[in-house]
Amino acid sequence: MNNEVNILSREKVTKQNRVWVRIASACNNRCIFCLDSNAHDGTFTDDEIVKKQIEEWFKSGYDNRVIISWWEASINPKFTDYIKYAKKIWYSRVQTVTNGNMFASEIFCKKVFEAWLEEVTFSFHGHNEKLHDYLVDTPGAFKKSLKWLIYIKKYYPQIIINIDIVVNKINIKFLPEIIKFFMRLWVYEFDILQIIPFWRWFQDNKDKLFYNIEENIKYLQDTWKLSKIPWMYIWTNRFPAEAFEWYEELIQDPRKIKSEVMWESRHFFEPFIESNWEKILEECYGIACDICFLNQYCNDFIKNQSKEKLELDQSCEIIRGEEFPSQVLEKYWKQKEDFINYINLRISEWKKLINIPKCLGWTGIYETYVDIKDNNTIEDYTYKYITNTYRKKSLRCNNCTYYNDCEGIHINFVRTYWFSILKPIN
Ligand code: SF4
Ligand code: SF4
Repeated sequence: MNNEVNILSREKVTKQNRVWVRIASACNNRCIFCLDSNAHDGTFTDDEIVKKQIEEWFKSGYDNRVIISWWEASINPKFTDYIKYAKKIWYSRVQTVTNGNMFASEIFCKKVFEAWLEEVTFSFHGHNEKLHDYLVDTPGAFKKSLKWLIYIKKYYPQIIINIDIVVNKINIKFLPEIIKFFMRLWVYEFDILQIIPFWRWFQDNKDKLFYNIEENIKYLQDTWKLSKIPWMYIWTNRFPAEAFEWYEELIQDPRKIKSEVMWESRHFFEPFIESNWEKILEECYGIACDICFLNQYCNDFIKNQSKEKLELDQSCEIIRGEEFPSQVLEKYWKQKEDFINYINLRISEWKKLINIPKCLGWTGIYETYVDIKDNNTIEDYTYKYITNTYRKKSLRCNNCTYYNDCEGIHINFVRTYWFSILKPIN
């Protein structure tokens, strides 16, 4: 599949209305990298709230999918009721994410699949007992979940099964092997999640779990290569875009940032933006930024405040980013050569191109949020960050003379024309 077809089919999938309904503040594993283990209090979300969310988050006219999850949803005694409720409201797909413990029972499987649970995402972080059981801190977890994954594949072949893997310093070297192991069991869809520096992950296990992307790029690239196998579907979460050179179609949709900052953690990010960072993110700022997937979102905002507003005249042409790769394709044509020709044409007409790196457009002048903001809300900043100021350079750019002052090019140009349009200058 060529990149254009691939990126557009992914854009279509992410245009679905996907809603995550959290029904349990509890879990029956003890993963050493758990994002939320500090917040596990053993309770279940109020029945009325769950049903209200399932109802209100349904959008007519969309392909609606509900993911009943967080933390281990299947231990909520009303798990089956919520599956039935979602189907009654006409969600086209009901999915859950699970460590697999509750599915280790014929009765449970029968109950949930008869209620019309259609997709199960199993969390496996290793391809053998030693690795997986260590990471989930639960002896016997690997054998048990694996046995029931095989059972479901055999007795409920209509159920879609996929795997999510949290990538960390302990399992990164085995990542391609983990995927190949499950492919041998006819699993062809994987959600690969980068470890993130909050809660217990960061506080207790920083040195043990966090790894350097550049030093481990070989394992990541060997993993992304597997996405080229027919029928394979690899989704990625919270990885920096530069980890995907040559596999740019796997870069996570930038709009996903909205759910990170404007959803559960809104109370955390909103005062930071609205106060022009006077209300700094005290729990993490400076402590975890260098390994945080939101580094660019937060630190661009801070950095931009001290920049002068741009003075633009008739000779300037602003090349803004776009919300979707399809819009980039529509505006600048299909091949990267067409885009480069467009840039060269404008340069030959003596235009100063704004937001284009020196290796493409010579000026290397960029707008900041301060140049384009209307108001200081989290919606305004997040939207403009996603559609314009979220720019990326390649790992190869480290060798470029202009590296330090350069911001690269907007993420959706990278997703459309790939990192290869950037040419380090020495
Ligand atoms: S980048 Fe933002 S969210 Fe991440 S650690 Fe720094 S201040 Fe916190
Ligand atoms: S090669 Fe990279 S660092 Fe150099 S100008 Fe181009 S984008 Fe910037």
